[in-house]
Amino acid sequence: MKIAVLAGDGIGPEIIAQALRVLEVLKEEGMPMQFVHAPLGGQAYDQYGHPYPEFTQKICRDADAVLLGAVGGPQYDNLDRPLRPERGLLAIRKDLGLFANLRPAVLYPELANASTLKPEVVSGLDIMIVRELTGDVYFGQPRGMRTNEHGEREGFNTMVYAESEVRRIAHVAFDIAMKRGKKLCSVDKANVLETTEFWKEIVIDVAKEYPEVELNHMYVDNAAMQLIRNPKQFDVMVTGNIFGDILSDEASMLTGSIGMLASASLNETKKGLYEPSHGSAPDIAGKNLANPIATVLSTAMMLRYTFDNEAAAARIENAVKKVLAAGYRTGDIFEAGMRRVSCSEMGDQIVAAM
Ligand code: NAD
Repeated sequence: MKIAVLAGDGIGPEIIAQALRVLEVLKEEGMPMQFVHAPLGGQAYDQYGHPYPEFTQKICRDADAVLLGAVGGPQYDNLDRPLRPERGLLAIRKDLGLFANLRPAVLYPELANASTLKPEVVSGLDIMIVRELTGDVYFGQPRGMRTNEHGEREGFNTMVYAESEVRRIAHVAFDIAMKRGKKLCSVDKANVLETTEFWKEIVIDVAKEYPEVELNHMYVDNAAMQLIRNPKQFDVMVTGNIFGDILSDEASMLTGSIGMLASASLNETKKGLYEPSHGSAPDIAGKNLANPIATVLSTAMMLRYTFDNEAAAARIENAVKKVLAAGYRTGDIFEAGMRRVSCSEMGDQIVAAM
């Protein structure tokens, strides 16, 4: 299990250090893991003059999985666009062909008060949003701005999905549903957009290979509403790039705690990039205050989706649950009556619970 470790900027090194301690527990027990460190983002710009340098490219291409902290910081905001840390992220996603973005929105009952929604609506929430990441109106050609035949300026984009693109993301979503509650909701706007009418047709065809999964379809406007009204009706949701962009952010905010949310982006060989959903949090960097749980949970996703090791993934997730149940909280999820811990102390507790 060759894992490229890209700590990145801001709180990246602090949260990655705790995630690695958790993986070290498994390694010491005999899991054959190898960690190879490389820079990405601002850190890479400082060392190599580029946010995704060749040195890092080689290591990531050669690895089975990539574990990433976060990139970015105010000191890099005035760089030319192609040199900015966030460009490193776009470059690595493209380089590794990561077309499937997995964004879980999980709300542990102990943290139900962190949400802006009523605790009974969100407590115990566990949704997985599968977003197609490399197609749709974000990449379709032609695109641009022009003057039309009436002499008026206009902007235009093209919404397009090829059958192979829909099939492969549908397979990812059905496979994930099989590993979870066996319910899949495909989100479209088939009443208005032919691209998504086509999407729906292909998803229905792929469903024949997964008779155990209960498939339903929902228009995106209704899905946005249902996520707020009754989010616990969902298990796995699959959708295109633009709808997924919006719905995954909406779903993550149901939980109200950005320091808890993991994510994964997979390619066709199940190689994956695993990272917390949050950024580099420059305001708390270097202070040992960050919540490492999103990154720790990203390692659980890595074990489940790239290395097919459900038992190890569940062990990490259960350790996190235990620590929360025991009342340990970093500052971002702290409530009166709980035990406030630093980033490294949270790591201590998770390792002990393992
Ligand atoms: P952010 O997610 O870094 O921070 C938003 C707020 O949440 C801050 O108050 C921060 O302190 C807090 N926060 C985030 N993660 C936390 C954690 N683990 N524990 C405790 N508190 C946490 O978003 P931002 O402030 O908009 O962006 C900061 C930098 O991160 C920017 O340079 C941005 O471009 C970059 N960014 C990177 C990624 C990525 O690497 N994937 C994603 C988003 C933003």
